[in-house]
Amino acid sequence: MQLDYDYIIIGSGFGGSVSALRLSEKGYRVLVVEKGKWYDAKDFAKSNWNLRKWLWIPALRFFGIMKMSIFRHVVVVSGTGVGGGSLVYANTLPIPKSNFYKSGSWAELEDWENTLKPYYQRALKMLGATKNPILFDGDIALRKLAKELNREDQFEHPDVAVFFGEPNKKVADPYFKGSGPDRSGCNFCGGCMTGCRHNAKNTLDKNYLYFAQKSGAEILAENEVVNVRPLDGKDGATGYEISVRSSTRFLKKRQSFTSKGVVFSGGVLGTIKLLLKLKKTTLPFLSDKLGEDIRTNNETLISVSSLDKKMDLSKGVAIGSLLHTDENSHLEIVRYSRGSDFWRLLHLPLATGKNIFIRLFKMSKRIVSRPAAYFKIYLLNGWSKSTSVLLFMQTLDSTLKFKTNIFGRLATTVNTGKKPTPDIPESLELVDKYSQLINGVPTSFALETLAGIPSTAHILGGAVMGKDPSTGVINKNNEVFGYQNMLIIDGSMISANPGVNPSLSITAIAERAMQELV
Ligand SMILES: Cc1cc2nc3c(=O)[nH]c(=O)nc-3n(C[C@H](O)[C@H](O)[C@H](O)COP(=O)(O)OP(=O)(O)OC[C@H]3O[C@@H](n4cnc5c(N)ncnc54)[C@H](O)[C@@H]3O)c2cc1C
Ligand code: SF4
Repeated sequence: MQLDYDYIIIGSGFGGSVSALRLSEKGYRVLVVEKGKWYDAKDFAKSNWNLRKWLWIPALRFFGIMKMSIFRHVVVVSGTGVGGGSLVYANTLPIPKSNFYKSGSWAELEDWENTLKPYYQRALKMLGATKNPILFDGDIALRKLAKELNREDQFEHPDVAVFFGEPNKKVADPYFKGSGPDRSGCNFCGGCMTGCRHNAKNTLDKNYLYFAQKSGAEILAENEVVNVRPLDGKDGATGYEISVRSSTRFLKKRQSFTSKGVVFSGGVLGTIKLLLKLKKTTLPFLSDKLGEDIRTNNETLISVSSLDKKMDLSKGVAIGSLLHTDENSHLEIVRYSRGSDFWRLLHLPLATGKNIFIRLFKMSKRIVSRPAAYFKIYLLNGWSKSTSVLLFMQTLDSTLKFKTNIFGRLATTVNTGKKPTPDIPESLELVDKYSQLINGVPTSFALETLAGIPSTAHILGGAVMGKDPSTGVINKNNEVFGYQNMLIIDGSMISANPGVNPSLSITAIAERAMQELV
């Protein structure tokens, strides 16, 4: 039987883009299906007040690049669009420390630290990683904090996926010997997380997907995969039928394609949601481990707004500096561009504690002790100009489980260890010190104060690696147990806590999986 494609890839984020390029280079006929829109630089929102272009809420006809999903134990932000999370992410590409490779369900399967070394290098090169060359106010304050803590040697200019030519000057492709697209130099506007309007951010459509298309891969945007059915009704040995549905039109037009193989790269929320649904219908042989071992990076995201009018905390790339605060933890300074003040509406004065009464009491105490300061930051000063977001991460582990509830929606339960919490004493201590350095007051996402639910941009796991279906959903080469020519290559394959921003690791592991595929 003639099949439409050799491989259909579901999702065009880091895992999907690497797969698209490497499979098409191997000569396979590839189709990438992406639920989000295909954005040009000029189409991105000028600030996050343009909710229609910034947020993905199809019910309100908002088809932007960032999705917020609220669960009982965590609020997840993730990317949508051709290029997946690379459109909205903060470009930072750290390599995890040793512990990552030696823990979790994948630890015994391979000497990951050594095996992945060349793939990390390949990923850094493809993504155009470069050290951030300039520190601005928010980063300089972090360097001062490093000095105060006696950890100046642990302060870093991170590797970021940004082209630092002459600001705003267009040049021929600087990365791939001229065979890639034209690029322009970064102007340090801080807008990376609303989408780079200046053609300076190395999003996946400028590297992996660009070359995948050149090698023949097709990309179908604004379509969501809703079903995957083995043609033989068994393990997919003869191929799969993949059904897609328009994700942006009023009339949800459906169509189907056939392919020999399928790669799930919808990100944790996309892949796990789809697979949990299909396990009940067309893919019953999926491991019972599906949905387990979901990790965040034990993050806290706390904003500190300065009262010093001279400070401009919006200048720089989205993450311009980081500090390793101990062997398990690190802190990054994050920013939005000037004018992107929408977050102001969703932030309350920082307050942590076991229950809502303690948190409300602490919040009121903060306001009463500095009413003028909170009045200024909420009503007078520009939020993004005066605010640094402190992103704190730890390698310490605890896991959640995703399951679908009676309405078919994803829901979380605690899998192992303690539930994630925004109340991390080390992080709060650092926030206090940083606040003093910039004469600032701290706030956090309202749900953290009101409901004690932490937020994460780094949701990982759910289809982890194992030696067999009792310990994992996929094997060490990302092949799904129970099915043929089916792979999972995205954040859901991450089988331990990297403790750092994960996109580089997803890219490196995807590169390895593709190398192993015959
Ligand atoms: C604001 C923000 C800042 C971040 N900053 C950083 C950072 O600085 N460094 C870093 O390393 N990481 C960062 N991240 C995290 C990073 O974006 C993710 O870890 C990464 O994108 C995950 O890659 P992935 O391959 O799992 O899939 P994703 O990049 O999430 O892509 C999945 C794609 O699949 C699509 N999709 C899902 N389901 C379907 C379906 N059924 N049919 C069709 N398409 C589907 C989605 O629309 C999406 O485009 C950030 C994230 C956010 C939200
Ligand atoms: S700082 Fe501005 S120009 Fe530079 S990569 Fe980010 S959005 Fe693009």
